[in-house]
Amino acid sequence: MRAIIKALYNPFIKFFFINKLRIFSRKCNAKQFLVLDIDNTIADTWTNLNDFKKGRFAYFSNLEPLEGTIQYVKNHYGDLPIVFLSNRNIVDYGVTKNWLKKRSFNAPQILILTNNPHDKLVYLKYLCERFGVVYFDDLSYNHEKESVLFYDDVIKEVKKMNVKYYDYDSILKLNNH
Ligand SMILES: [Mg+2]
Repeated sequence: MRAIIKALYNPFIKFFFINKLRIFSRKCNAKQFLVLDIDNTIADTWTNLNDFKKGRFAYFSNLEPLEGTIQYVKNHYGDLPIVFLSNRNIVDYGVTKNWLKKRSFNAPQILILTNNPHDKLVYLKYLCERFGVVYFDDLSYNHEKESVLFYDDVIKEVKKMNVKYYDYDSILKLNNH
């Protein structure tokens, strides 16, 4: 049932966010954009996944940041406008925005949420065709079950695009010290 509801409202969500992205990217007047995933890219999401059952609002509010990625991004791409691109439920939009505010990214920014990881490609494609793109995204899942899996079909498409892509391994390296 939930899948059906999601499928029904998904086109509206995509329409809303692509429009938002169009307006934002025009307004920024930049040649290059930074696209940042949130979970397991700049937020330490999977290690405390058990807390999710206690309540999603508290869970998302209290996620620890992955400072390795955040500092790297601020040092190297601090002057680029940011598109936060996260595969989270739309009901978590507010709590996600608040969490991001606490991380003090100073550049102009928007938050886009998707219903499934594959939908990220829509927004990446839009940006790639018009601007330079630097993209950080682990595109992985299943960490809590002790074997990391990847969204291989999405990764394959990303690699075909003209983006500077920081993947799971690069993100791991930035945070292992
Ligand atoms: Mg992620």
